[in-house]
Amino acid sequence: MMNYKHERQVAVEAIIKSCRLCQAIRKGGLFGETMKKEDQSPVTVADFGTQAVISRDLLKAFPDDPIMAEENLAGVPTDLQEKIVQHVNTIILGVSHKEVLAAIDRCNYNGGPAGRFWVLDPVDGTRGFLRGDQYAIALSLIEDGRVVLGVLGCPNLPFDMNQPDGPKGCIFISVNGQGAAMRLIDDPFEKKIEVADIDEPAMASFCESFESTHSSHTDSARVAHILGVNASPIRIDSQCKYGIVARSDASIYLRLPGKAEYQEKIWDHTVGWLMVKEAGGEVTDINGLPLDFSAGKLLSHNSGIV
Ligand code: AMP
Ligand code: MG
Repeated sequence: MMNYKHERQVAVEAIIKSCRLCQAIRKGGLFGETMKKEDQSPVTVADFGTQAVISRDLLKAFPDDPIMAEENLAGVPTDLQEKIVQHVNTIILGVSHKEVLAAIDRCNYNGGPAGRFWVLDPVDGTRGFLRGDQYAIALSLIEDGRVVLGVLGCPNLPFDMNQPDGPKGCIFISVNGQGAAMRLIDDPFEKKIEVADIDEPAMASFCESFESTHSSHTDSARVAHILGVNASPIRIDSQCKYGIVARSDASIYLRLPGKAEYQEKIWDHTVGWLMVKEAGGEVTDINGLPLDFSAGKLLSHNSGIV
């Protein structure tokens, strides 16, 4: 089995840089540096800046690897493009306008069942980012339809949920067959993580999307009721949910489709899937089927997440 040592190191460094970029952009206030995409969802300079930083790092280390990432520059006005370049220059000094835009643009891979490619959600949970809540930067490596490496940056997540004012900014790292670990952005010490060890269903704790349009809160409440769970669900944005399950702050993550049939994007789940598996947990869809990451950009063979 490959050990992915080089890939792991490059991915972790790229995630650290982009966490710092996102934290700086949040701290500075956004000053209108956002726009709406065709589907009316928000996108910000942080999404594009992160995609540029990570894409450029991957290009240098693994020039032949294609990347699938969420964002592209179609319809992005030139003044916003200029802001993106300015922000990226605070992290990579002297990088040119052309290089930044090219780095964003090259992440247009469509995925599929064969070969090796990277999957990136540059800011997962953009709504959480804008609200000042949780968001994540999710980078994974896929080989022949299987996730083999995943690094998740959660710039605003407390290291210890019981100390909400303690150190913040977690990075979750998992490699196929090597387990899952967590560290702080500013401290290289890695702590092994494992899912909760409970055998009483009533002792379970749930987490779910903050946005009820992404996952039905009423249906999850019914499941909780049937299991006899009394604790209220933890509602947070992004793949931080997989992180808190992997480190046993919650034991169940439900993503229950609403009425309108929505097909999940693979970049919202690749990192989380590997992390929970490597922490000793299990991820399926709502029908108990394994997630199929080999069908392109969408989880078209699956419905919802458990
Ligand atoms: P979360 O913060 O876990 O709710 O996930 C955020 C992600 O939800 C975004 O990255 C979107 O790709 C995805 N999303 C957008 N619309 C929907 C929807 N109707 N159902 C489920 N997920 C969605
Ligand atoms: Mg996302």
